[in-house]
Amino acid sequence: MLSSPSAACGSARAGRKFTRRLAEAFGMLTSMEERELHFPEEQPLIGWRLFRVRRSESGFVLSAPLIHNPDFERFPSRIIDALCYQAEHRAPAPGCRCGLYAAIDRTLDSLSGYLSDSAHDRDPPIYAEVACTGRVFVDLRGVRAQRIEILRLATSASLWPDLGLQAQAVAELSERYRVEVYGLGVVPQWVVANVMPQGAPPEDAAIDLDALLGSLGRRCRALGDAGR
Ligand SMILES: [Zn+2]
Repeated sequence: MLSSPSAACGSARAGRKFTRRLAEAFGMLTSMEERELHFPEEQPLIGWRLFRVRRSESGFVLSAPLIHNPDFERFPSRIIDALCYQAEHRAPAPGCRCGLYAAIDRTLDSLSGYLSDSAHDRDPPIYAEVACTGRVFVDLRGVRAQRIEILRLATSASLWPDLGLQAQAVAELSERYRVEVYGLGVVPQWVVANVMPQGAPPEDAAIDLDALLGSLGRRCRALGDAGR
């Protein structure tokens, strides 16, 4: 059965209340204002993120960026479920930084900034459009999702040491993840335009989280209307 759009988007207030109650219970405020939403499989929240393409015994595989232990955080499947490495809770959890990250329009994390932050990492980066579902925390930097599904990948020759390697990786990735691999032209303008010297926004950065959530709610309702 399909969840109704209002059920899909309506947990924001409950999530906010819960986050605040938890913060009060621990006598502290969460370090960053955030809202908890729930997106069912039928109405995912679409975002963009980066992976690094690394070699594995079974060919090229997507891996977390900014993590340099080669045995850590490889994502061999099209669907990825979040784990918390800090605590024994279900990921993502309020006030923690666990969950699968993605940027959405009007959040502040800069994907190109993360490439600058991790320029010493020699494994080529790749952009990915992802469908975020389950529990999703939204804050000014982006989202932390319970589950993401890779929808399509985007790369360019400039990100690879040579064309032969790029062609091999594109072939292996599209077969493994059952997605198309495009040029960077498919990356949306709001991702391309958010160029910063580093990935994280400045300390004093702020956004109107309620307005952002309002626009997500409207989009959910529009999707629901379209599905009727
Ligand atoms: Zn956690």
